[in-house]
Amino acid sequence: MWDVTAGGCRVGVPAGLALTMNRTIAALGTTIFETMSQRARNGDVINLGQGFPDEQGPRELLEAAAKAVLDRSSQYPPMRGVPELRAAVAAYYAREQALDLADDEIVVTSGATEAIAATLMALLEPGDEVIVVQPLYDAYVPLIERFGGVPRFVSLVPPDWRLPLGAIAAAISSRTRVIMLNTPHNPTGSMVQPSDWTLLSRLCVKHDLTIICDEVWEAMIFDGSRHVSPLAIPQLRERSVKIGSAGKIFSLTGWKVGWACAAPRIAGAIAKAHQFLTFTTPPSLQWAVAEGLQRPSDWHVAHRDGHADGRTRLVEGLRSAGYAATAGPATWFIHVDLAASGIALTDVAFCERLITDGGIVSIPFSAFYAQEPETGHVRFCFTKHTHVLDEALKRLARFRTTLG
Ligand code: GLN
Repeated sequence: MWDVTAGGCRVGVPAGLALTMNRTIAALGTTIFETMSQRARNGDVINLGQGFPDEQGPRELLEAAAKAVLDRSSQYPPMRGVPELRAAVAAYYAREQALDLADDEIVVTSGATEAIAATLMALLEPGDEVIVVQPLYDAYVPLIERFGGVPRFVSLVPPDWRLPLGAIAAAISSRTRVIMLNTPHNPTGSMVQPSDWTLLSRLCVKHDLTIICDEVWEAMIFDGSRHVSPLAIPQLRERSVKIGSAGKIFSLTGWKVGWACAAPRIAGAIAKAHQFLTFTTPPSLQWAVAEGLQRPSDWHVAHRDGHADGRTRLVEGLRSAGYAATAGPATWFIHVDLAASGIALTDVAFCERLITDGGIVSIPFSAFYAQEPETGHVRFCFTKHTHVLDEALKRLARFRTTLG
């Protein structure tokens, strides 16, 4: 099918038509999250794969968005985001994380994934090396490569999934420009520790590196751990980009409202990239998110805690059904260690059989690897209605007995 030529791919098309395609994009499949959700749309299959809640989202925000659609402007908002949202992002992070963000340090984007894309597009030159930590969100590597970067892989080590600081230090070369981090971490729920930040600061200052920190799970921490952004660390304040997501904070994943926060010089470059990706984000949704961020801390705690029962129900239910299940400190996910559960299948084989024989979609950990995949773990999303989780647990228990 593909006739690979230097710099691009020629697709097999009717004579006389020659379509040239970028090699990185041509080589991509469809993301695991869409693939798995699609499989759950067919027939009686429960979707514990892609991370989204069953609930509609907070009524207050839905009403604020509806009212804004009817009563306020639906024309292009300011390119960096409506002033109300930028002010609300700054105030929210000042209150929740003691950050001091100025208006010119915030760029609103159409979701965190766009923020990541705009940041990589803004920062990378061809040949720049980016250290990435596996397991990782499957968007990182294609975006790095599409913008000319070269990923250098390190991996978290189970069962604690702590940051491999020695491996990170060893991966730094004269071409390294960026370290990409994700804390709290999807899919494991682990978090960068205060002592990790001390060493990371030293490395970044010594080698003049920028940190891109995907912090979309910052509001979904269930065990009382404190989230630390690199922007809170003086040595990293001018050399880090913080990525945030209203979808994760408010359980509104389809809204695709996110942001990148960084020192003005970096934020300015991100805004230039953003102007030619999506340019702006629907203003009604931005105003609604601004209202949500202004809700008091108690409201945010209650919203997060609305997911806590599902987390306990799923992890305990999985354990009583014979699975070695772990709920990390944060995120909407629980993971199962197959070998520790006595299941002699790879993650992909397990997920396939769980769909066909068990009627449940999950996500194999190997989908979060671009190199040397860890194939012994499976991720389950717990932000589902109670009756859905109960039915899923019944199926998982039944399925477990078929595995011997
Ligand atoms: N972060 C989501 C997840 O882990 C996926 C995001 C997406 O599908 N774009 O399920």
